[in-house]
Amino acid sequence: MRIKTFVKYFVIVPIVLALGFVLLIYSYTKLPMFGAIPNGSRQEKIQKLPYYADGKFHNIYQKHGVHMSLPGAVWKLLSTKTDGLFSFLHWLFSSTTPPHSQSSRDKSECNQAQKPTPAHPIPALNVDWNNLPRQQDIAIWLGHSSCFFQISGRRILVDPLFSKVSSPLLFFPKAFEGTDIFKPQDLPDIDILIITHDHWDHLDYKTVLQLRGKVKKVVCPIGVGAHFERWGYDPSQIVEMSWGEALDVGSWAVEPALSVGANCEAVKVTGAGFKIYCLPAHHSSGRHFTWNKSLWASFLIWQNSLKIYLSGDSGYSKHYADIGAAFAPIDFAFLNSGQYDARWPHNHLAPVQVVKAMRDLGAKKLLPIHICKLSIGANHAWAAPLRELKKASAALNQRPDLASLSQRPGLASLSQRPDFASLSQRPDLASLSQRPGLAFELLTPQIGEVVDLRNEHQTLRTWWECKP
Ligand SMILES: [Zn+2]
Repeated sequence: MRIKTFVKYFVIVPIVLALGFVLLIYSYTKLPMFGAIPNGSRQEKIQKLPYYADGKFHNIYQKHGVHMSLPGAVWKLLSTKTDGLFSFLHWLFSSTTPPHSQSSRDKSECNQAQKPTPAHPIPALNVDWNNLPRQQDIAIWLGHSSCFFQISGRRILVDPLFSKVSSPLLFFPKAFEGTDIFKPQDLPDIDILIITHDHWDHLDYKTVLQLRGKVKKVVCPIGVGAHFERWGYDPSQIVEMSWGEALDVGSWAVEPALSVGANCEAVKVTGAGFKIYCLPAHHSSGRHFTWNKSLWASFLIWQNSLKIYLSGDSGYSKHYADIGAAFAPIDFAFLNSGQYDARWPHNHLAPVQVVKAMRDLGAKKLLPIHICKLSIGANHAWAAPLRELKKASAALNQRPDLASLSQRPGLASLSQRPDFASLSQRPDLASLSQRPGLAFELLTPQIGEVVDLRNEHQTLRTWWECKP
């Protein structure tokens, strides 16, 4: 009798509870918000790509350290967040912004700027969506990695995240107070919705569902379209691309993949339209237990005299130099610059790596993204990326030896050296003289602030700096 009771309470009941829990989790992950795994003709196309093997996509360089499923990420936080579970819970539940009076805000602002979560609302500007001059080439950062562009009269929205919580965990990571002011229903019609990869903070289920009636075309890395089809988007709206492919905006034809780092002459843009290039990034994908089933990417928008690079999420790797070799000089680089951490060193860029990526890309102006909206547990102050990048930009601009490649003695006389006489025939070096060297201009618009892409002299307030 005692044995029966023991078996009942200590064996059968726990097994039933465990099975019930597994069933519950399994059923939960079948909800539409988790999207769909590619199959059929989409999967056949994926299997032919050189960077797909063993049922997964892989990065081109440094194949270690990036892949992390959602449960893996949570476990990493639970087991390593400072002193373990207690600290993790403290961090989790103290992440909501406490109420602050204006006077106490001023006093504490400098201290609070050292914390991962701001103690006061992030200042954000509402956008007058209906009165944006359609022919003006502009960019508006909408918080985290969400950006809006108007280029050649086309409206482009990138990685829109308008929900308060950007994960299936319901309560975190939560948008910082002040950063969730935009509503999908307020936005105008969108010509092109670009999604860089399917992580929750870049492909927000609620947002794309609410935008469905407004979006004409979805441009995304291959495999991500399966999510959109499950969520009711028409397959004819979806343009899936692999690394190196170019989309001609207007004809909507996708041109075959160029080998990044190959002859840049081959990718020159002519005419009045523009192209969107799908390019490599060093990251991962996945919305639950399976990962790297869909591709992740960076994008380059090239409109005649304007080149805009969007990094998506990416760690530092040689792909930036490859892209720079093909496309430099780049006018604006929107680089992921926040939520870096020693625990996931290959997933995002730390400030020093942002500087290196700017150099590799040959980019002139930096707009940091993946910042100031949510904390996924990274060990840095919410404003630290901006502070560090401001210091780096100022230091580099003050050093004439680094300010431009043409001023560097070792490289200035390059074209006069007989062994480099055929420089222009080397595609990897052809654009060297056009690259701005290490110096770059840092632009830190407020959320909702309009950046005029054609105005060389627009000055932006450093809204994030603490003023003691
Ligand atoms: Zn990501």
